[in-house]
Amino acid sequence: MSKVRVRFAPSPTGMLHIGGARTAIDNWAFARAQGGDFILRIEDTDPERSTEENTQIILRAMKWLGLDWDEGPFFQMQRLEKYEKALNYLIDKGAAYPCFCTKEEIQAKREAGNKSGYDRTCRDIPIDEAKARIESGESHVWRLKVPLEHDNIEFDDAVYGHMSFPIDVMDDLVLVRPDGVPTYNFAVVVDDSDMEITHVVRGDDHLSNTPRQILIYELLDRDIPTFAHLSMILGPDGKKLSKRHGSTSVEEYRDRGYLPEALVNYLALLGWSLDDKTTIIPKDVLCKEFSLDRITKKDAIFDETKLNWMNGVYIREMGIDEFVKRAKPWFDSVSPDAWKAAPLIIERVEKFEDIPEKLGFLSWGPELHLDEKSTNKVLKKEGAKEALAAAREVIANKDWDIDSLQNACQTLCEKLAIKPRKFFQPLRVAVCGNMVSPPLFESIVLMKREDVLARIDYAIDLAL
Ligand code: GLU
Repeated sequence: MSKVRVRFAPSPTGMLHIGGARTAIDNWAFARAQGGDFILRIEDTDPERSTEENTQIILRAMKWLGLDWDEGPFFQMQRLEKYEKALNYLIDKGAAYPCFCTKEEIQAKREAGNKSGYDRTCRDIPIDEAKARIESGESHVWRLKVPLEHDNIEFDDAVYGHMSFPIDVMDDLVLVRPDGVPTYNFAVVVDDSDMEITHVVRGDDHLSNTPRQILIYELLDRDIPTFAHLSMILGPDGKKLSKRHGSTSVEEYRDRGYLPEALVNYLALLGWSLDDKTTIIPKDVLCKEFSLDRITKKDAIFDETKLNWMNGVYIREMGIDEFVKRAKPWFDSVSPDAWKAAPLIIERVEKFEDIPEKLGFLSWGPELHLDEKSTNKVLKKEGAKEALAAAREVIANKDWDIDSLQNACQTLCEKLAIKPRKFFQPLRVAVCGNMVSPPLFESIVLMKREDVLARIDYAIDLAL
């Protein structure tokens, strides 16, 4: 069998989205598992929507995800002569013809009820007449002369199974536009064939393009690759994934402090599985085990809660030193020494953007920013004032280390016969502003005594 060659072919019309990233990951992992090649091709034929900036964003996102490619990036706009050559091949064998209908004429036909908007009007213009019109400078596109006597177009999709499309639903699609730039369906066939792609793995939004492309392969007398179409990615509500569901681009996830290795793991599992149970699949395993036959055609659900959980698993696995190093900007956004609290929160952080929220209290100085719910549930309760006043004594006088503060509070709490929860919760809220916080005394010693006392005093005033 020939070497597997796959490609990822994004259009640089926006950022790299979750769906695109999943397609890239599947291609990359399949290439790696097969000892094949992964090729990157930028499909930049839409001059209005393609930008250099988007290309750079996509390349950066690919690198950040660790999806290394073996060839490319190739750019379609640098390959125009290849499409011209292929077009001439079709023209020579009578499989393509010029069409002079204007946009307005086609629009009128569409409105008159012709679905594809084109009724093959120019198909039978005698070749000499067509040539003369081209030479006189008349604007035209080149269309595929669909062989109407052709049998159904059939192929075996690696995911969807056997597919069959009747020829009479195929329009004479445009291959090359008036400016000489090819359409997607034409360029993609020429490229995939020139680049000797063996497997086309892509989103199932292209499933209906596939019979058109197969026909072009046939007419170009080129080998047809295997196709594998990946199901749609939906939000948890079952609707197509969109902005409404939250972040949708890889960059957004990077900026929110997700780990590329977790994102790759999670996205690989959208529509593919290793077995019935394994969820944590590190890259090296993915690159060994990924296979097309375990891709399902069932729509995949993108569930950020699951991604968060998985990201948390990867964070805990990396250990404290690595956590501090990789999350540095997030720790620094709290205070220069907030990283010292890393061991207190590593178990509870799901993504780095949680860090400022969890450690913000370290940088408040003498101020206390109270969470309203915690205030009502804890400070505005009978006994809170006494408990705080008692704790204040310990905080004001004992050595500034975890054990002495904790032991002294413990002893005092017992002596006063206050339930531990009634003693420690008010203190927690008075120091951290919230009844949910990292371990209390470990947090306290990271701050200045006078600041902690100022916060307690403020809370005492408020408390019942
Ligand atoms: N440029 C196309 C897209 O982004 C690629 C489709 C394909 O893989 O054939 O949808």
